[in-house]
Amino acid sequence: MTLTQRGTGIEIRGLRKAFGQVTAIDHLDLDIHPGEFLALLGPSGSGKSTVLMALAGFEPPTGGTIRIDGEDCTHVPPHRRNIGMVFQHYTLFPHMSVLDNVAFPLRMRGVAKEERRARAAAALETVRLGAFGDRLPKQLSGGQQQRVAIARAIVYNPRVLLMDEPLSALDKNLREEMQIEIKRLQESLGITVVFVTHDQGEALTMADRVAILQSGRLQQISPARELYERPANLFAAGFIGEMN
Ligand code: ADP
Ligand code: MG
Repeated sequence: MTLTQRGTGIEIRGLRKAFGQVTAIDHLDLDIHPGEFLALLGPSGSGKSTVLMALAGFEPPTGGTIRIDGEDCTHVPPHRRNIGMVFQHYTLFPHMSVLDNVAFPLRMRGVAKEERRARAAAALETVRLGAFGDRLPKQLSGGQQQRVAIARAIVYNPRVLLMDEPLSALDKNLREEMQIEIKRLQESLGITVVFVTHDQGEALTMADRVAILQSGRLQQISPARELYERPANLFAAGFIGEMN
């Protein structure tokens, strides 16, 4: 596990989120350690994306609290949380150059043009796309586009990086390459990562700890290895067992 002073801890207490009659998150208690790589694993509809949206501030919770670095952020708007987010489908602006895409969050934060360009170029270097700044997104491969999305998410030095199934649109080889790339990046930045996936193998190979969600409830949270050897209940056992 990557123990670092740089990462940020998150404390989720009694988190609930209802959409009308649907309870997406049901009294979730979860501590995410500073600098850790946490995988949030669960079947479709189990509430994974909703947890990330609540952490990022895009979905106000129905109840409970979220503390980031000890600060109560439950009702703090997204742009004041300093959290980066990468979605499943790379949501780049098609008409903007790669560099301008990466610089976009800085523009939103009022950073001056020269500094924007310098910081965006540095973020592109971090994901090994330093030579691609002038291109348009469509001139890049799927994996490269997802790396641009990651550069855009880290360009303002967020304290936490949230990733919602960032690799599920990629083919198998590219996915494995990107898994290594993301781990390398996380270790070099020392950043806290919450990584959503419905792929058990991906969770077990990438994460320090894995949290399993079902129907908006936390079924188990443990180091990847322990999850495999000592599943907490039948659901976890069955879900992990599907890997074999
Ligand atoms: P996952 O990411 O694990 O597939 P989600 O967090 O997207 O699960 O969804 C959890 C539950 O909440 C599902 O039943 C889903 O239909 C519901 N849900 C999620 N977002 C919304 C929304 N914006 N409006 C209504 N229901 C939603
Ligand atoms: Mg989802």
